[in-house]
Amino acid sequence: MIITLKRTAPAEAVENIIRSFESRNLTVHRSYGENYIVLGLVGDTTQLDERSILANEWVDNVQRVAAPYKLANRMFHPEDTIIDVNGIRIGGNEKIVLMAGPCSIEGLEPTIEIARAVKEAGADMLRGGAYKPRTSPYAFQGLGTEGILDMVRAREETGLPIVTELMDAAQIDEFEQYVDVVQIGARNMQNYTLLKAVGRMHKPVLLKRGMSATIEEWIMSAEYIMASGNPDVIMCERGIRTFEKSTRNTMDPAVIPIIKQRTHLPIVVDPSHATGDWKLIEPVALAAIAAGCDGLIIEVHQHPENAWSDGAQSLKPDRFAALIEKARAVAGAVGREL
Ligand code: PEP
Ligand code: MN
Repeated sequence: MIITLKRTAPAEAVENIIRSFESRNLTVHRSYGENYIVLGLVGDTTQLDERSILANEWVDNVQRVAAPYKLANRMFHPEDTIIDVNGIRIGGNEKIVLMAGPCSIEGLEPTIEIARAVKEAGADMLRGGAYKPRTSPYAFQGLGTEGILDMVRAREETGLPIVTELMDAAQIDEFEQYVDVVQIGARNMQNYTLLKAVGRMHKPVLLKRGMSATIEEWIMSAEYIMASGNPDVIMCERGIRTFEKSTRNTMDPAVIPIIKQRTHLPIVVDPSHATGDWKLIEPVALAAIAAGCDGLIIEVHQHPENAWSDGAQSLKPDRFAALIEKARAVAGAVGREL
C-alpha cells in the first residue's frame, strides 16, 4: 500500500503515522519528494482500512499496489534511483554509462590492453567474465580468481571500475574485496538463494534478464535483492529466447520505457548478447539509447576472431569508438549526454 502525505506534514505527525503502521507489523519505506512524502507499506495490508487512513489530515492519498513487487515499484519511490559506482552515476538524467570489454578475461596483458583501448574510446567501466556460465562443461570456464585479479590490475592502470559475473555465493568475499559491480547472469536470474546472498552485499548489482523471463519475473528478481537489503540494482536487458533464429536472442526496445514506468531502477542494455552478431551491435545500441536506456554493456575484443568466447558478438576497439560517436548524437537528440 502507498500512502502519500502532504510535504507540509510536520515531522512529528509523519513519525506518528509511521509508528502506527509499524505497530501493526508492517515495514514502512519512506521517500521524500519535492511535493510529497511517500510511505510504502510492506506486509499484510489487508488489515488496513483506506478510509480510516484518509481521515488523517496529513494524508493526501492511499493506493493499494496490485503489482507483486514493492521496493522496486515506482509507486513506492517516484524518483529515479541513481546508483554511484566509484563516482560514476547511473540512472535518472545522468550521463549514459558505457561498460565495455571482453566476454571472458584471457590473462593480464590482453586485459590491460583492452582496458586501455576501451577507455581511450570513451568507456566508463571495464566488463569481463572470470567465472563463465558456459552451455558446455567442456568449454572454457573462466580464469576464476586469476581473472578477477587481472581486472583489478587493469583498474589500477586505467581507473575504470570493473563489472564481472558472480555465479556462486562462495565467491562473495572475493567480490566484496575486488569488484565494483556484481553481475548476475541471465542463467542465474532466478537463482533465489544467490539473489538473497547478493542482497546482503554492499556492491551494486547488474541484474541481467533471464533467458526467457517475463518483465514481471525479472522485476521480482530485483525485488529479491532489494528485500534482502541491497537497494542498488541496475537492470540489464540482453534479449530473451523466442522462436526467431536470425538473432541470438530477441530484444524488444519497449522493455526500456516499461522498466522505467514500473520501477525506479536504472536500465542498461547489452546489444552483444541481444543480437549475437557484431554487425547488429551498433544499430541496436543506438535504438536502446533512443528508447531511454541509462547505459550500454558491450563486448569489445582486440582480436574477436581469436576470442575465447563470444567473438562473433564482440566489436573491435575502433568500431566501438565509432559507435560512441553516433551514440552521442542520438543521446543528444533525446536529451541525454554520453
Ligand atoms: C556475459 O555477459 O558474458 C553473459 C554470459 O551474459 P548473459 O548472462 O546475459 O548470457
Ligand atoms: Mn559473453
